[in-house]
Amino acid sequence: MTAASSGSSGDRLSTLLVHAGEPRPRIGGAANVPIFQNTVFELPGEPEVSDIIYPRLSNLPNHRALSAKLAALEGGAAATVFASGMAAISTSLLTVLRAGDHLLVQEGVYGGTHGFLMDDLVEFGIDHTFVDAEDPAAWQAALTPTTRAFYTEAISNPMMQVADHRAVIDFARVHGLVTIIDNTFATPVNFRPLWLGYDLSLHSATKYLNGHSDVAAGVAIGSAELIERVQHRHDHLGGCLDPHACFLLHRGVKTLELRVRRQNATTLNIARYLAGRSGVARVHYPGLESHPAHARARELFSGFGGMLSFELDGGGPAAARFISRIRLILHAGSLGGLETLVTRPVQISHVGMAPEEQARLGISSGLVRMSVGIEDPEDLIADLDQALGG
Ligand SMILES: *Cc1c(COP(=O)(O)O)cnc(C)c1O
Repeated sequence: MTAASSGSSGDRLSTLLVHAGEPRPRIGGAANVPIFQNTVFELPGEPEVSDIIYPRLSNLPNHRALSAKLAALEGGAAATVFASGMAAISTSLLTVLRAGDHLLVQEGVYGGTHGFLMDDLVEFGIDHTFVDAEDPAAWQAALTPTTRAFYTEAISNPMMQVADHRAVIDFARVHGLVTIIDNTFATPVNFRPLWLGYDLSLHSATKYLNGHSDVAAGVAIGSAELIERVQHRHDHLGGCLDPHACFLLHRGVKTLELRVRRQNATTLNIARYLAGRSGVARVHYPGLESHPAHARARELFSGFGGMLSFELDGGGPAAARFISRIRLILHAGSLGGLETLVTRPVQISHVGMAPEEQARLGISSGLVRMSVGIEDPEDLIADLDQALGG
């Protein structure tokens, strides 16, 4: 799906969000792309393969316009959308890697990605080594003659580590590796990894890109050549995005910048409040000067995002008490929506991880992860304050 139509590449993000990818002329004059709830499209007299329109080929007008918009947001030549973030991740990894290949992966990646590497790719003969993505000195030793790619996340979960992304690109250039990043946490508002040199940027569009907690979707963004290869595998694996879900994501993403800028600002306020609050032992947020990678985050990102985590003095019992007392904030997994959510990673996102591994990564039972929404910041702080208690 090559970026085309309206919204030139010189436009700024807020303009691209509204106009990039939109068909010109508009379909039937409609400001929004209508939902093409169709699996059958007429062929021209002497059809070519490129004339075949079919949902699983992700080439309905809904897919085309949405993909072109998402590509433009990160300065990619092309993009393709998927039925979930995991469909984007699994399809992309299966495009870049084949049996016998080896992958370097940032440790602590998203649980679904971790499971896919451990349970599925290993069975397919594709091996990996986890590396500390903040420590470039450690990477050389993990390289093998068959290493093909380096996989990172913009900001890691739940400790909010920021990989040394510049060093990842330099290292990959020297060793001829394909670079893949999961940019879900940063969003194109805060970080455009392709500009830095990443080859492929992936998102769970279920989170910030859609932003309204009502659609599961994913996207892969990159060069036309790479996305064509991803699309080929995508056609076969079949994880296509339904046209109605395309429509909802297309609608949701238009307000991305408004939402994420607000979430950046509120989260920084909340992080500062928590850092000074009694009962809170530690706050993990790249926007705080106390964060170990604050300087790097400042240099790479234009905002620090809507995710943070904090550790309570009283450990697990204090975290359980805190969660039982929240009123406005929801106790729920997932992230990136309009409503503020909290969870305990040891119970939800990292429940499958061995206790020693949790301890090594600093994931304690008193750790609370928070996805900050767009509510009034003072109302959120008031809810946190009453839930933290005296
Ligand atoms: C949620 C998430 C995913 C998986 O996306 P789904 O849409 O749930 O398949 C991948 N990476 C990150 C960072 C996520 O938060």
